[in-house]
Amino acid sequence: MTGKKKNRCSFCGRSEDEVAMLLTGLNGFICDECARQAEHIVRENLGSRVNPKKGNDMALDMKELPKPRDIKAFLDQYVIGQDSAKRYLSVAVYNHYKRLAQKVDDDGVEIEKSNIIMVGPTGTGKTLLARTIAKQLNVPFTIVDATIFTEAGYVGEDVESILTRLLQVADYDVAATERGIVFIDEIDKIARKQDNPSITRDVSGEGVQQGLLKLLEGSIVNVPPKGGRKHPDQDYIHVDTRNILFICGGAFDGIERKIAQRLNTHVVGYDSVQNQQKIDTKDLMKYIVPQDLKSFGLIPEIIGRLPVLTYLDQLDRDALRNILTEPKNSLVKQQQKLFQMDGIKLTFDDDALDYIVDKAVEYKLGARGLRSIMETIMIEAQYNAPSGKEKELVITRQYAEQQIAKSEKMK
Ligand code: ADP
Repeated sequence: MTGKKKNRCSFCGRSEDEVAMLLTGLNGFICDECARQAEHIVRENLGSRVNPKKGNDMALDMKELPKPRDIKAFLDQYVIGQDSAKRYLSVAVYNHYKRLAQKVDDDGVEIEKSNIIMVGPTGTGKTLLARTIAKQLNVPFTIVDATIFTEAGYVGEDVESILTRLLQVADYDVAATERGIVFIDEIDKIARKQDNPSITRDVSGEGVQQGLLKLLEGSIVNVPPKGGRKHPDQDYIHVDTRNILFICGGAFDGIERKIAQRLNTHVVGYDSVQNQQKIDTKDLMKYIVPQDLKSFGLIPEIIGRLPVLTYLDQLDRDALRNILTEPKNSLVKQQQKLFQMDGIKLTFDDDALDYIVDKAVEYKLGARGLRSIMETIMIEAQYNAPSGKEKELVITRQYAEQQIAKSEKMK
């Protein structure tokens, strides 16, 4: 034996050949594992105050923050109706900023985040609301679809990859990421299939909800920097989700039935024609409470982490008609711009627009249908007009009907 004394980690006592790496300090050593753990503990205690330099870059001045009314006014420029959802979102985003600006040490009161869940039929503006909010934000923002996630060990992505996207948007600035906002679309698709815990594992549903819970509750999450599956050899980035605001959206098809059941309305024969007329589904949505989400198959823990529940209305004829012309980048304005770039002034007769709405209602595609109907009507003019001599083009109802009839014949 040469008797050379082995260097040992001053924290866990393991010797240099028991660990992957031993860092040398003034009066001691630390191994790679203890260093990692130390970082973890620091993050847990200081949260987003770690890395204060970068954090300060994002420091928020309360005076400059858009107030809820300002945020809603901005949303009004792009999204028709949906007043209730707009108010909830505006307040939630404002509170999110406040939380980021708060000085916790002052009085011991710490504002907790309130994640949001928006319930409403498809094509009523949930994603549009989220996108529009993102335009106004100065925090990283990303939209992800809940359907791509599966429980660890199955084909699909781990829920942690949500944070990979946010990191990417924030250029891998962890402090900025930890103040971001995530919109999770189609949250209803990871609902449990029945309102009782399954005996066999429910791959697509409950497992994913459990994974998501970790993110929603606020914890330090190991994020694979490139996304996809976690891999043992990969270095993870530790992200604290405590201050990340999650906004979830979903159609929750059939949830009105759960609401009706709870409200004790006539559920028997709900589907029969006479009862359908009695139950105004639009009104039912107003009564939605967290319990209905549970009946639909979200686990109570998830519901508890989404304390702000709001709904979107089914779009009626008036709303559809307004969507064609009113928003800042409405379909009519977009078409006009396209033609204007060829020096052509495009106008739509009122009854042509009414006709587009009729068709959208007939196709039952809501606002989503408007765009494809508009495209079908305009394709021929878009093809011919740029080479023609006409400097003005008026779309009449008759013209619109002809174009739709032509396309329907072709199908
Ligand atoms: P959802 O996420 O609710 O399924 P989207 O927000 O994706 O629906 O809406 C689909 C499209 O329909 C949007 O791109 C937008 O053009 C239009 N749209 C839907 N709802 C509205 C609305 N309330 N105001 C303006 N446009 C809307």
